Formats: sequence, C-alpha cells, structure tokens
Amino acid sequence: MKRLSVFDIYKIGVGPSSSHTLGPWMAALQFRNALQGISFDRVEVHLFGSLSMTGIGHATDLAVQLGLEGHDPKKVDTNQIPFYIGQIKSTQRIRIHDREILFSPTRDIIFERTIKPEHPNTLTFRAYEGGREVLAETYYSVGGGFIEKKGDIHPDLRQDELPYPIDSGRDLITYTDNEQVPISEIVSRNERAFRNQEDIDRSLREIFRVMRDCIFHGCQTSGILPGGLNVKRRAAPMAKQLLGNLEYADHQAFFEAIKGSGRDFNTVNHWVNCFALAVNEENAAMGRIVTSPTNGAAGVIPAVLCYYYCFCDYRGFEDLRRFLYTSAEIGCIFKKKATISAAEGGCQAEIGVSSAMAAAGLTELMGGRPRQVLMAAEIAMEHHLGLTCDPIGGLVQVPCIERNTMGAMKAITASNLALVGNPDDAVVNFDIVVKSMWDTAKDMNQSYKETSLGGLAFNLPLALPEC
Ligand code: SF4
Repeated sequence: MKRLSVFDIYKIGVGPSSSHTLGPWMAALQFRNALQGISFDRVEVHLFGSLSMTGIGHATDLAVQLGLEGHDPKKVDTNQIPFYIGQIKSTQRIRIHDREILFSPTRDIIFERTIKPEHPNTLTFRAYEGGREVLAETYYSVGGGFIEKKGDIHPDLRQDELPYPIDSGRDLITYTDNEQVPISEIVSRNERAFRNQEDIDRSLREIFRVMRDCIFHGCQTSGILPGGLNVKRRAAPMAKQLLGNLEYADHQAFFEAIKGSGRDFNTVNHWVNCFALAVNEENAAMGRIVTSPTNGAAGVIPAVLCYYYCFCDYRGFEDLRRFLYTSAEIGCIFKKKATISAAEGGCQAEIGVSSAMAAAGLTELMGGRPRQVLMAAEIAMEHHLGLTCDPIGGLVQVPCIERNTMGAMKAITASNLALVGNPDDAVVNFDIVVKSMWDTAKDMNQSYKETSLGGLAFNLPLALPEC
C-alpha cells in the first residue's frame, strides 16, 4: 500500500487535465531525464487509449512537448506556453538538454487510438539514433497527475513506515478514537514523516495562495475559452454583477470585498458558483491551478474552502491546515481503494471525489466529529455514484466547468446534513461508498470514461482539428 502525502493530492500545476496534461508532462520530464548522457537524434511519443481519444482537447500533445523541453509545470510562465509551442511548430525542432533535434508534432506525436490492456492512459516515448532505437519507456498516467513507469517497483512507498497507516475510514476512526484527536491531527502526524512542519506550512500556504490567485484571475478575465467550442467565460461577469465595476489590486483586496458583499443565501450561492467557475475556466485556458485531486475537478475544493474563508468563521492558518489535511486524506483513500482517474471511473472519480474531500474538510472545520466528517464524505460521494465522463470535443469545458459548481454545492449540503445527523443512524458508511464507487467504475461502459465516445460528447460532437 502506498504512502501518500497531502502534497500528492494537492499539486500546483497547469490545466486542463491532471491525467491527460500534468501526468504526460511529468512522464515527458522523466523521459527527458533518462535521455541524459544518451546520444539520440529523434524522439517519438505514442499515445494510447483515452490519451489518444481526448488528447488534443486535453492538450496532451502540448504537455509532452513542454515536458521534453524541460519546462516545470509548477513554475512555467503559463503566458509563455503558446510561444514555446509555437516555436517548436514553426521551427520543427525541439530542444532536449543541449541538443536541438528535428521534431514535427504532427509526425512525432502519434495518436494510436488503441487501448492498452495494462491501463487506459498509456504513453510510450522512443528515442532513436541513426534509425536505431536507443531508449524506450512506457508510462501510465493513473489520475491526479500521478504517473507510474512500466516495470518500476516502489519498495520505498510502503505506508507501514507511517505512524498511522490508513487504508479506510475505519482506520481513521480507530486512530481518532484511540488518540482522541480529530482526523486532521492524525494526518498531520503522518505528514511529518515526509517533511518538517516548516516545509509543510510553507507549502500549504502556497497552495492556498495559488487557489485564491486562480479565483482572482478567473474573476478578472472575460472572453471565449480556447478549443473551438466557443464557451464564454462566466466567472468575471458574475463577479462584476456581485461586486460592481471596481478594480482590485490583488486577491487579498478582492476577497476582502467579497467578505463584505452580503451573506444571504443567494449571494453566498452565487459566490460559491463563481469561485468554482473561475478556477475551471482558468484550468480550461491552461492557467495555473492546484490539482485537487484532479484538474477537471480543481474548482470544487477552492470553492468550498473560500466559501468557509469568506462566509464562515475563518480563524486563520490553522483552519486552512485542518481543511487541507482532512480533505486530502479522503482523496488518498479513494486513490488507494478506488480511483481518482476518469479514464478508470468516469466523473464520479473526479467531481465525486473532490466533493467528498471538500465535504469532509468543511465538516471538520464546522466542528463535526470524525464520524460526521466521514459521513459528510460518504453523502457527497453517494450522490455522485455513476456520474459519467463525456466531455464535448474532449475539452475540459462542457460539462466539466459547470459540474464543479455542482460538486461544491453538494459538498456544502452533505456537510450540513452530516453536522445535524447521527452517523450511527446512517445506512451507508464511508468505506461502503468507496467500494461502491470502485465497483461502479469497473462496470461502467468505456464510452463514459474520458473517451468522448458517449453521452454529451456523442450527441454534440465537435470536429477538432487533427493534430
Ligand atoms: S466530465 Fe468530469 S471527469 Fe470528465 S473531463 Fe470533465 S470534469 Fe473531468
């Protein structure tokens, strides 16, 4: 069983997809590292399964080029991405370490259209010298930006070295009962097995900064999203309607204004929707986001966290820490016992998981006991079971952007239900819902697993340019 850190679940990256953009990007970076010291004059990338079927809409082709050139998704200036990609296209060359080789994205990135039995998101890199293959590596993009290299074994990732190995909700309840602490405290003690508190706190603050920046930027940017679907950005006009035409220097000033904009149900509901839309519009435009636990669902957690930050009793950094710890642990359990990949489980694995995570984090902050926290996560997932992934044109836009608003609102409702509920009366428990989600994922037709072959994508096909 793998050791997973809070920062495996919350990763700073670039949109639009964690499994189709961030994962392939990381794989390309890893392949680039493996090429160090090897003589080569050609590189090919083969995309299989879901990566080939929705790869263009999810910018997989762009991600592998950026990775091969060595750009770091955490730090790259996202405004420069079109320039980097344009350079490769116009010169038909790519720079890998100190060599510049011929590279034609249309010839050297191959959309294979076949599904590998090992994993629906498989990609293979091949390097050649004088026509002879000198290196080939295959990776699986397993959701949430996680990758696995074919043939790799990770003995160092066993979680039994953690003070509190966690595989289930039952484990969490055992520890919290024994220690008489909240879930976040158990997660905190585990996290300190990975790094020191100073590092943890710095990274948590950075995650929250990126989330708020993303909302701020999304709420300042109008226009049409890229990709050919002509989707209008809605967060900026919505924010304007709520706050008027005032300008804000930074996210700090912007959020202070939101806090003063009213707390009636409709205003709060509009803001939660606006936060979620803003993040996922940024995600669709290849902006900087926090994968939480995936990119397609990256708006749910910031929307619920900022709901608490703006409209509840936010008491400072400790609240942030508790929210992120608790929610991340829920994401870890889904990752270990089910999936957070839409290519494996449809949208229940993305929006469903993020909603369950957000519901859990919020419930702990609202004073819920650990059993109520798990009850909130269970309720949120229960009402996403079976949710399919059918993005139109393979773009992470419709239904994805709006779906984040639904995930956020369901999380708040689930939390409220759990806070007034008695977990002993609940018919379904958290571990059962995790198992049910995974069973549903395995039974789900492939057309509804990020292939754009079913549902909305089938009935509203968008002719995307062949790459
Ligand atoms: S439909 Fe859901 S799972 Fe599929 S790409 Fe959109 S947000 Fe992700």
